Parts: sequence; structure tokens; C-alpha cells
Amino acid sequence: MLLEQIIIYSVAILFCGIIVAVYLRKLKKASDIVEAKIEKAKAEGLHEPISLHPVIDLGTCIKSGACVEACPEKDIIGILRGRGTLINASSCVGHGACFHACPVEAISLVIGTEKRGVDLPHVSESYETNVPGIYIAGELGGMGLIKNSVDQGKAAVENMLKAGLKSKADILDLIIVGAGPAGIAASLTAKKNGLEFLTLEQDTLGGTVFTFPRSKIVMTAPMDLPLYGKIKLYDTSKSELIDLWNDALGKNNITIREKTKVEAIVPENGHFIVKTLQGETFKTQNVLLAIGRRGTPRKLGIPGELSEKVAYRLLEPEMIEDRKIVVVGGGDSAVESALLLADQNEVTLSYRKDKFSRIKPKNREKVLAAIEAKKMEVRYNTNLTKIEKDQITISDLDGGQTTLKNDLVYIFAGGELPTQFLQKAGVQITKRFGYTMKKYH
Ligand SMILES: Cc1cc2nc3c(=O)[nH]c(=O)nc-3n(C[C@H](O)[C@H](O)[C@H](O)COP(=O)(O)OP(=O)(O)OC[C@H]3O[C@@H](n4cnc5c(N)ncnc54)[C@H](O)[C@@H]3O)c2cc1C
Repeated sequence: MLLEQIIIYSVAILFCGIIVAVYLRKLKKASDIVEAKIEKAKAEGLHEPISLHPVIDLGTCIKSGACVEACPEKDIIGILRGRGTLINASSCVGHGACFHACPVEAISLVIGTEKRGVDLPHVSESYETNVPGIYIAGELGGMGLIKNSVDQGKAAVENMLKAGLKSKADILDLIIVGAGPAGIAASLTAKKNGLEFLTLEQDTLGGTVFTFPRSKIVMTAPMDLPLYGKIKLYDTSKSELIDLWNDALGKNNITIREKTKVEAIVPENGHFIVKTLQGETFKTQNVLLAIGRRGTPRKLGIPGELSEKVAYRLLEPEMIEDRKIVVVGGGDSAVESALLLADQNEVTLSYRKDKFSRIKPKNREKVLAAIEAKKMEVRYNTNLTKIEKDQITISDLDGGQTTLKNDLVYIFAGGELPTQFLQKAGVQITKRFGYTMKKYH
């Protein structure tokens, strides 16, 4: 009897041992995979976060892996030896899905790192800046994505109303600068509350997402548009979204003044004078800056850049064919544009670095394949230095110059935070090194 019991216990212990060993082996294998991904991300320059990214409190983390599952971008976070860790942190687009999924609130969303600072304007909980009457909503405040911008545009106008509006003759209640998701939501909220307002847009309605050559738009949560309702669009297209904005604005008789760039906001006797590039001036009690962070494309400052053949965005690549094109830049926008243009044109990509280090893995795969297949040419370690009518000059780091025949130039050298514009209006800006976003919807 005793022997039988010993055998049963031994078999049970052996069985448990095997299960534990198999489980530990599985964990080790999974950790090895994550470790290899981290090494790859480091080698490709994707490990270090660029802007908004998750930071995991390892003391609180219960290793549920919910964050890994929830991330729509995949491989931003992984589990390494039982602990949550960052893999391709620079590919994080700030959906905040990991933050919402974590059952123990071990994740915070942080902007910038100890090493890499990000310029952010000062904004209070009510979205007001240090200048009373000037508010900021959307990506300019640091938090990206369409849904967040919509929420903030709405909240900023509501807070403005709570602060109290004193209607005065000949002075508008509000000028909204920028008609991206934040500006559109703010316009609808202003209309809903009967405000006297104007929305000024330097380009055309829609905002950043429409100036990039990417047809798919992803939204991880429904958005609530004032006067329109809840919209559940998860995977949509640019045209579907622009139709939706137009429908929402049209139904509410809101006209956005397009092609009107705001140049300056000057305080005067308790209100503001808003000046446009087109020479108009408006008086307003409040200003909402919903100008995003990519409002002003960075110029190269080289001879010939004012030429008509130079553009800072690509809108209808299918209309461009049989041209000799140079695309400048090595980020996602440059690479995506070059790939689209390469189908029907002769494309040279000029990039000042020696490899594509900060682009989405899919884009990297595609661009390297296109180069390999000789569908386009890439010139690493070069700068575009001169643009002429039928040719351009590219200089390499040793000073060597190459002249190429050329019809069109696309420059994707990033955008400048409109620092001067904000500072002229008195809005303070600080470089944030690892700043935790307090509210994240
Ligand atoms: C390539 C790419 C893909 C993206 N994909 C997604 C996605 O799939 N899902 C998602 O949710 N988000 C996505 N985003 C992020 C999203 O586009 C932004 O977070 C969002 O558009 C920010 O909205 P916003 O209203 O704050 O600013 P913006 O959309 O940047 O709009 C600002 C507007 O202000 C205007 N403006 C700027 N300066 C002035 C001025 N001085 N006078 C007048 N007008 C001015 C600009 O022309 C622009 O129209 C993507 C971004 C990029 C770059």
C-alpha cells in the first residue's frame, strides 16, 4: 500500500515537474524572441522612444501581457523574463491601448525621454495657456491621434464657456486656428453653444492626416462629435473621414475659411487681434490654437526652394507619371511618398543618414525591397543643396556633388513646432524630458 502511494506521489510530482519545466521553457523561448526583437530594434534605431510612449512600472506590473495583446501596432511592448518591456518604442503612435488594457494601471504614457526632449507649450487642465484667453487643443499640446484631438477640441471650448464669455459688439467670441480633428470638434462645440466664432485654416479642411500619403486611418475607440453623435469608425479611409467632417460641418452650416494662415495673435485691451498672412485682421475674445505639430513643414533653406516644382506633401500620386523626381527625407512620409511615386516615375530618395532608422518596419521592408528591385534609387548620407529648373544638385558628406535631371522635388524634412508663433503670442514652451501625460482618453 505504502509503495503504491509512493509511486502515485512520485508520478504526480514528476508530472507537475514536467508541466513546470515545459512552462518555463515556453517562457524562456518567448523571452528569447523578445530579446532578439529588442536587439534588432536597437540596431535599427527604433528602441529609443521619439515622443509619446508607454513606461511600465515593474513594481506594479503583474505580467498579464494584456498590454502586449492590446497594442494595435504590435511589438511596441513585449514580455521579457516575466516583465513588461519596450521593444520598438519609437514606433509607438500613442493610441494608449496598452494604458487602457493594463488591469493594474502599471502603465503611464510619457512624452520625451531623459535624453531626448520634446518641445511642449504650457497648458492647464482646462487647456488654457499661460496667456488667459489663448487655449490649445490637439496634437500641439503633445497628445496625438484623431480621437484625442476631437475630445480636446470639444473640452477646450467647454472650459472656455465655463470660464465665462462676455459678448461684446464687433468682437468675436472665439477664433479657432486650424481645421484638423481638434479644430473641427471645437467648431461644432462653438456652434452648439451659439458662439460667434470663425475657424481659419491655412490649407484645406482635415488636418495632418490628409497631407500624408496613407489611405488607411485607424481609430482604436469611437469618437463623439458634438452635434453629430458617436462615430464608430475603426478602419477607415481618408475620403470616408473627410466626407464625415464635411457632412458634420455642412449639416450645421459651419464654413471653414480655408487658405487662411494665421500669422500673429496680438493682445489688445482685453481681447486679441488675429492677423492673417492674407492681410486680414479679426478681433476676438478667445483663441483656440488647434494647429497640430506638423503645421509648418521644415524648409531646407537652399537655392531654388521657392520654385513651383517643390512640394512638402504628396496629395495625388496617381496623377504624377513619367517624371524625374527627388524625394528628400528618410522618415515614414518620405518613404511612403517615394514608394507611391516610384510606381510611375523615376525616383531618387536623398537621405542625410546612412540607414532608415526611424521608420515603421513595414515601410523599411518595402523601401529596401524597392531599392533592391531597382524600382527607385536611394542616396544615403546626402543633402539636396540646389534646385534649378531642369536639374538638382545633391551633395554628399565629403563635399562631393552630383547633378541629376529633375522635374519635381518633394521635401519631407519634418515639421517645425510653431515655436516663434506661439512665443510671439506670449505662450511659454518648455522642452520636456520624460513628461507623464496626466489625462489620457
Ligand atoms: C502619417 C500619419 C498617420 C497617422 N495615422 C493616424 C491614424 O491612423 N489614426 C489616428 O487617430 N491618428 C493618426 N495620425 C495622427 C493624427 O493625424 C493627428 O494626431 C491629428 O490629426 C491631430 O489633430 P489636430 O487637429 O491636433 O492637428 P492637425 O491634424 O495637425 O491639424 C492642424 C491643422 O492646423 C492647420 N494650421 C497649422 N498652422 C496654421 C496656421 N498658422 N493658420 C491656420 N491653420 C493652421 C494645419 O494646416 C492643419 O490643417 C497620423 C499622423 C500621421 C502623420
